Amino acid sequence: MSLKDDISAIKGIGPKKALVLHNVGINKVQDLLNIIPVGYQDKRVVSKVFFAKAEDTVLIECKVISKHYYGSFRTKNSPLIIYGQDDTGIMEILFFNGMYVNNMIKEGQSYSFFGVVKDNKGKKQLIHPEFHALGSHEDRRGIVPIYKSIGAISGKEIGKWISGLEDDLEDSLEWLPEKVIEENNLCTINLAYKWIHFPTDAKLVLQGKYRLIFDELMVLETGLFYMRNRSNSGGKGKIVDCSFMDSYISTLPFSLTSGQKTALRAIKKDLSSSRPMNRLVQGDVGSGKTVVAQCAMICCGKSKMQSVMMVPTEILAKQHFMTISQDFEKHGIRTALLVGGTKAREKREIKEALAKGDIDVLIGTHAVISEDVEFKNLGLVITDEQHRFGVKQRAALAGKGADTNVMVMTATPIPRTLAVIIYGDLDISVIKTMPKGRKKIKTEVGRNEIDRIEIYEKIEAELEKGRQAYVIAPLIEESEAIDAKSADEIFSELKSKFSRFNVEILHGELKQEQKDAIMSAFMNKEIDLLVSTVVIEVGVNVPNATIMVIENCERFGLAQMHQLRGRVGRGEEQSYCYLLIGNESEKSVERAEILSSSADGFEIAEADLRLRGPGDIFGLKQHGLPDLHIADLVRHGDVLERARESAKELLENDSNLSKNENKPVREKVVEVFGENISLNM
Ligand code: ADP
Ligand code: MG
Repeated sequence: MSLKDDISAIKGIGPKKALVLHNVGINKVQDLLNIIPVGYQDKRVVSKVFFAKAEDTVLIECKVISKHYYGSFRTKNSPLIIYGQDDTGIMEILFFNGMYVNNMIKEGQSYSFFGVVKDNKGKKQLIHPEFHALGSHEDRRGIVPIYKSIGAISGKEIGKWISGLEDDLEDSLEWLPEKVIEENNLCTINLAYKWIHFPTDAKLVLQGKYRLIFDELMVLETGLFYMRNRSNSGGKGKIVDCSFMDSYISTLPFSLTSGQKTALRAIKKDLSSSRPMNRLVQGDVGSGKTVVAQCAMICCGKSKMQSVMMVPTEILAKQHFMTISQDFEKHGIRTALLVGGTKAREKREIKEALAKGDIDVLIGTHAVISEDVEFKNLGLVITDEQHRFGVKQRAALAGKGADTNVMVMTATPIPRTLAVIIYGDLDISVIKTMPKGRKKIKTEVGRNEIDRIEIYEKIEAELEKGRQAYVIAPLIEESEAIDAKSADEIFSELKSKFSRFNVEILHGELKQEQKDAIMSAFMNKEIDLLVSTVVIEVGVNVPNATIMVIENCERFGLAQMHQLRGRVGRGEEQSYCYLLIGNESEKSVERAEILSSSADGFEIAEADLRLRGPGDIFGLKQHGLPDLHIADLVRHGDVLERARESAKELLENDSNLSKNENKPVREKVVEVFGENISLNM
């Protein structure tokens, strides 16, 4: 067996256990070595019974002189008392449920016992100590690692497998280039494994752990830099002439907020410089990010360069296209819309026009990153509602043009550490100010049917005034498994209730044309009340909509509801949001109340994380990144920093990791990132 073998090469690992291990990312024998012990037992010294004091943790070696099991064949599990003797005295050893142990321990034989000494009225006692037949393979001395169980596999068993790998550590497993090891004062990977799993010294254990943490972050950063470099060959960025920006701004129907102005100043500087722009624009829902993107795109167009904007849904793409194309036409900038549902012929025409440079601005869904979309002179790439896309998609988009300027927009606040990981060395603009005249959305929690009646009255009053309303449901159809209102159910209820108004339903299973038709009808005020699932979640902008009801609000994430709520309160009228609780647990009420008391996306996102507990706080998976098993982004920020520096340098000198000494790095990155990355030969 070698460390490179599949895990099932180990004796005792059958298909079932192999599956459990595969599920937590342990595939090869070597991966076992990346399981870090949760603690260590100090078994360096064997104590004598005579000198063992109460509350000491001791390891003793005794011969079993007698044992007493207080059970019969009828009583299932009873206490077992064992008397063990060494050359200094006798120790009483107690197991409360002793049947199993009784079968294992034989009188007259010697065992090691490891546990905490108790004082039982003057008698020394060990209760439930760990025990091994003296001199057996499991009877280890020295500092012995303890492992956590994985699923149904006990920590003991894992320890047994790992302890069998000591000899395999003779062959070098090193994958990091010498330079990286030296510059970061790392130990070799073999030593790290040795020190962690076969320790002799606590300090060395820590050094070994540091190495594993570094490795994990190094792979992550190398993969990220690699993907980024592909679109950004380190050359000069496209210089965009931004002199048209101010006159464009003067044609807008409103004056920009100070946050928008600050962001645009930075963007102008980025675009006018030869360094490619790489900027994240972060601003709460409704803060007006779209117009910021427009300013950048129009300057691009005026400089005879193309720009592309990718958004997560067709509805949103359509909406952006509607506002932007009309406006840009006036300035002689040609726009096109490319989504999954675009007819084949039209698609072909758009692609041809893009390649010839006859289209200046392309707006669309991820259809815009499909292989055969080519640009003549791409100068700017924008992703809206960034959090909906993975790293891979963003890299693919940026890869459409060499050294393009990149701008990503999101309403989701993210901690700095994560931002740096996901976006790399990018600059961040935060739009903190809301457009003038916006009123805070009045948000209330509804708990019962009486509240519901009141809420319906409120809807009626708003519709009466000519406003529009959204009712959001967690499900499309009724489900027996889930106790929640479905959009279908609510739709038929509201249709008869508000028969004087136009009520429609929108959900993800409708055909694209149907969705589009409904959405444009809503925008054109032909629909008064829209019952919908979360398909409308992102970015939809209908300022005349002033009231939103969220059914079964306990089924939505807080940040998600904040986004949903952002669909109202987009005009100057007072807007309302009602959160209906379906199951009145304390937690759902607490959550709903956070939303009703706060309008601040950052605050809400934080509370969301707190309520959801730790776990996948950073949601790396969601961004298409590999999970971290050992490193912790909060605690190991400094290691991350160093790993990033090393990864950057590595790729600066060998952008494709094709040098011989970097081959192992390349293999590691491919192994960890899997299909998310493809290194060119
Ligand atoms: P988001 O940041 O959520 O994407 P949008 O860009 O959709 O927000 O803008 C929301 C609404 O605010 C739009 O109707 C937009 O025209 C309007 N808006 C944007 N900037 C301003 C401003 N400075 N003053 C007034 N209204 C604005
Ligand atoms: Mg938006």
